[in-house]
Amino acid sequence: MASSRNGAVNVQVILRCRPLSKEEVVNGTHQVITCNERAREVTVSQNVGGKQLGRSFHFDKVFDPDSGQAKLYRMAIKPIVEEVLEGFNCTIFAYGQTGTGKTYTMEGGPRNNGEVNSEELSEEAGVIPRAIHQIFSILDENDAEYTVKCSFLELYNEETTDLLAVGDAVDQKLKMLEDNGRVVVQGLEEIIVKNKLDIYALLDRGSAKRRTAETLLNKQSSRSHSVFCVTVHMREVSAEGEEVIKTGKLYLVDLAGSENVNRSGAVDARAKEAGLINKSLLTLGRVITALVEKSPHVPYRDSKLTRLLRDSLGGRTKTCVIATIAPTVQCQEETLSTLDYAHRAK
Ligand code: ADP
Ligand code: MG
Repeated sequence: MASSRNGAVNVQVILRCRPLSKEEVVNGTHQVITCNERAREVTVSQNVGGKQLGRSFHFDKVFDPDSGQAKLYRMAIKPIVEEVLEGFNCTIFAYGQTGTGKTYTMEGGPRNNGEVNSEELSEEAGVIPRAIHQIFSILDENDAEYTVKCSFLELYNEETTDLLAVGDAVDQKLKMLEDNGRVVVQGLEEIIVKNKLDIYALLDRGSAKRRTAETLLNKQSSRSHSVFCVTVHMREVSAEGEEVIKTGKLYLVDLAGSENVNRSGAVDARAKEAGLINKSLLTLGRVITALVEKSPHVPYRDSKLTRLLRDSLGGRTKTCVIATIAPTVQCQEETLSTLDYAHRAK
């Protein structure tokens, strides 16, 4: 799938399998997943008519349950963030069934006070804080003039809410407007981040808001997409004394649980809701397939999520889909559909 930047599509699909939880270990849960990192292959063992069969899937990278946050970041995400600092737009998605580690991968494990006050990343810090750290480290090293801005929004039922809004704006649904082919979310809060540590306050603010909205509306975050966006404006002076201005944008997307894609037989409100989420996830799959196949028509307009991400998918951008799975036999069927979906994106 690797391709050069000369207008070629660059979509990377990686697979991460979470470890068994303490509870699953205690219960002696049966595991059905084998990861082979070197062969970049994951195998699901299935018992068919008393016979043990294995179905294997190949990805650009595979991370087994022992692979920590730092390793995944270094091997899969770091090169993408370097592109952003060269002035390109990139998108990273976490895709998978609820409970397989999408939020863990993007945001990280539980944070403690020591961590939010320390310049050092904790072992469990996820892609978002690591990306912010890398961005500030490189910018400070390069002695550039820069501004880093972050926004954080949620898409639920094809409606957009600002996860960083305060005061009267808290419950407002935001409109997406098209401006010269670019999509702008009207009134979306963009917060200037001054240093590495600011990121934790933003993540906490967003997560708290997500939780409140969940309780109030009696919904689950597993059915919404959250989109964290980092925009970096840089001004440098080249060796020839010329001023160079670059802007790079990074979208970090924690997608709705993929189980909604397959669930059938839902009724009424649930059906509508599931249908809409279906639409965003299915459209995303189609958009990625169209980009990979260099199809003349890319159906960006078919869902809010793909409209929003349009300037960071395709063209001179890099996209990474992190498909997350659980190793347990209970999740086997959902795991197979995640692997099928993610594999289609390749
Ligand atoms: P999702 O966002 O996909 O619903 P979560 O990120 O909430 O899933 O993960 C479910 C649980 O599994 C959480 O308790 C999380 O801390 C844990 N977990 C997920 N992935 C990992 C991992 N790679 N290593 C350790 N714990 C993990
Ligand atoms: Mg989650």
